[in-house]
Amino acid sequence: MGDIRTIVVVGSGTMGNGIAHVFAQYGLTVRLNDLSDELLKRALGTITSNLDRQVKKGTLTEDQKRETLSRIMPTTRLVEACADADLVVEAATENETVKMELFRTLDTSTPAHCILASNTSSISITALAAVTKRPDRVIGMHFMNPVPVMKLVEVIRGLSTSQDTFELVRSTAQRLEKVAVEVNDYPGFVSNRVLLPMLNEAMYAVMEGVATPEAIDTVMKLGMNHPMGPLQLADFIGLDVCLSIMEVLYNGFGDSKYRPCPLLKKMVAAGHLGRKSGRGFYDYSSPSPAR
Ligand code: NAD
Repeated sequence: MGDIRTIVVVGSGTMGNGIAHVFAQYGLTVRLNDLSDELLKRALGTITSNLDRQVKKGTLTEDQKRETLSRIMPTTRLVEACADADLVVEAATENETVKMELFRTLDTSTPAHCILASNTSSISITALAAVTKRPDRVIGMHFMNPVPVMKLVEVIRGLSTSQDTFELVRSTAQRLEKVAVEVNDYPGFVSNRVLLPMLNEAMYAVMEGVATPEAIDTVMKLGMNHPMGPLQLADFIGLDVCLSIMEVLYNGFGDSKYRPCPLLKKMVAAGHLGRKSGRGFYDYSSPSPAR
């Protein structure tokens, strides 16, 4: 297996544009794919303003910014973009049917040596690998949001992922100055399996009247040195996303310790999704969030 030079990033949303940004910043050729020119234009706008911020901070020069942008080619033509890819990072919408279909297409459109990675937060890497004829070259590459800032990449081995594939993806993550952590494919991997039950437990504490959201967040911030309280963080992630991850854990393990908090379900049903809907455990309709 050779060196990685050309990357295809599928999906140019929150994660995809950040992933394209870091690969291009570290000298790789990137084809950024999405369903419309409009979405790609928006993604390039986001990448440009994030690069501008780096220039302002003095961590990147104007020339480096220009070079980074020149390495990113936006395209809606996935099959053509894949013709000489060494690595594909799939960061499309978190939907199993969409990802299965994409992995079938990627398997038939990329060269035999190409590694197919998914940035999924919760879908089984082993299941995605099983729809391809190269399960040894399918792997999880789970970046954190915001990608240009966060150091961690969970590198997730599916049941059939080969050692060569793992090593190459780990060294690629290191090339981006990220810290790669090896994880095996089980529901929620490590990040969401450890984080979400804590957020869910904080919601049970609110539901049972143990304390107010402010009090719980204060305990975790001042007592445990967490930069954000669990309820503030849940609002930030989105309560619908929190619920769907808890459901993945609950269904995946069949263990009642992962049951989603009824208050979380009720809030999602009411459309109180956190920061993005203006209301969750806190109210975001005024400039300083209050409960
Ligand atoms: P998003 O909704 O912001 O972006 C998804 C993009 O994929 C959209 O632009 C959509 O048009 C595009 N897309 C959908 N179907 C496509 C297809 N068939 N071909 C090409 N593009 C397609 O979502 P996101 O938050 O960037 O999440 C992307 C992935 O990253 C998901 O698997 C998610 O679980 C994972 N993830 C998200 C976060 C986060 O904090 N947002 C963190 C880690 C991992």
